[in-house]
Amino acid sequence: MKRARRARIVATLGPASRAPGMVKSLAQAGVDVFRLNFSHGSHEDHAAALKAVRGAEMALKRPLGVLADLQGPKLRLGRFQDVEIEVKPGHTMRFDLDPTPGDETRVQMPHPEIFRALRTGMLLLLDDGRVRLRVGERTDEWADVTVESGTKLSDRKGVAVPEAVIPVSALTPKDREDLAFALRIGVDWVALSFVQKAEDMAELKRLVDGRAACLAKIEKPQALHQLESILDYCDGVMVARGDLGVELDPEEVPVAQKQILRAARQRGVPAIVATQMLESMTSAPAPTRAEASDVANAAYEGADALMLSAETASGDYPLETVSVMNRIIERVERDPLWPGLMDAEHAGMDEHDVDALVAAARKAGEAQSTACIVVFTTLGGTARRMARERPLQPVLALTPNPSTARRLALVWGLESRLGREPSSLEEVTEDAVQAAMDNELAQPGQRVLILAGTPFGAPGAANLLRLAHAPAKKAKR
Ligand code: PGA
Ligand code: MN
Repeated sequence: MKRARRARIVATLGPASRAPGMVKSLAQAGVDVFRLNFSHGSHEDHAAALKAVRGAEMALKRPLGVLADLQGPKLRLGRFQDVEIEVKPGHTMRFDLDPTPGDETRVQMPHPEIFRALRTGMLLLLDDGRVRLRVGERTDEWADVTVESGTKLSDRKGVAVPEAVIPVSALTPKDREDLAFALRIGVDWVALSFVQKAEDMAELKRLVDGRAACLAKIEKPQALHQLESILDYCDGVMVARGDLGVELDPEEVPVAQKQILRAARQRGVPAIVATQMLESMTSAPAPTRAEASDVANAAYEGADALMLSAETASGDYPLETVSVMNRIIERVERDPLWPGLMDAEHAGMDEHDVDALVAAARKAGEAQSTACIVVFTTLGGTARRMARERPLQPVLALTPNPSTARRLALVWGLESRLGREPSSLEEVTEDAVQAAMDNELAQPGQRVLILAGTPFGAPGAANLLRLAHAPAKKAKR
């Protein structure tokens, strides 16, 4: 089946969607990467979901990526005697380290590192911003707080401190267990939540040690301020608008989205736009028109991938949601203005030798009405550089490496497929043309541009750009 959509779809698996039949249907409807959300579900659930994805991959003969999303160091309040308390503006109480269940006068906040980072006058946001508190007197062991807005507080609600970098470890003990498990079952991508600084990602990369690609979820204002240094350690990045929106004012979120997408595009790091994209479809078979616009705009902005969360994990219409997202993106990509927009935010050429070749491939494709570009890639680097150019033609990335093929499923415009390691220029040409025709990306007689590296069989940067023609009659395998 011909696939021409360039922006990718990430769908979260959960109780509504992890049965093998459903996973296969979702992939058929257009999902490129499946997310396992380690904030929910058991290890058995995730292992079963991964198995279902690998099964769907076999059936569809198309690489599918699996992304393990680690919960990260979410800070939380302790517990109350009666589960919840009522508060109103002006109410004052104390947060401390005492695990005794709390009441209207005090409650535990089991994070000494927060107390040390707090300063009088700072803002605290609890329960996804529903309760705003202002810090009064404080020590390293407690803080008096005054409610500015909100109506109730309850057990284990999340705590955000938008004005301070909290020196917590990037990964909690639970994250470390989840990570070891995710790597054991063989996920392709690992995402870390609540990244605050570059060292957080550096630590993740150290632990992962090349066994998966690493992605930072940008959901703290602190991370936005250090975006460039965080990107130094990222194979991918996510605009995590749910939690980002808690600590940022609403008008800041679209600007942050653009900023992250632009920075990622410059580097050729794939970027996901996430959360609430088709939220109303968790309980309705059609989206609001504003949601359709949000999805379309992310595609117009050149995002590599768009993500569905509750819509597919626990919603009533997972399949319909993916179909709607697929249709909206395809519609955008048929807009005659769309290619110009993809070209507008062009990254400059940098020190990579391959960039000159990749830019030439894009140009050559434009000039000669090329059907597609075929890239031979071992670890995916050349393919990602090609995608960064946002070429007009579909790009077929051929790799002998299944994990490369699966990681590339997240990248804009790349159709990754498994292929042998070619050992001569003849094989390069033959394989490229055949794969292009097999995937309906080239018709007999059409031109195919090929990007490869010599010497053959040795990993290294591409250094060869070749023009070939699909034979007039379809070749037999
Ligand atoms: P989450 O992350 O769904 O794991 O919270 C995404 C977001 O915060 O937007
Ligand atoms: Mn989040």
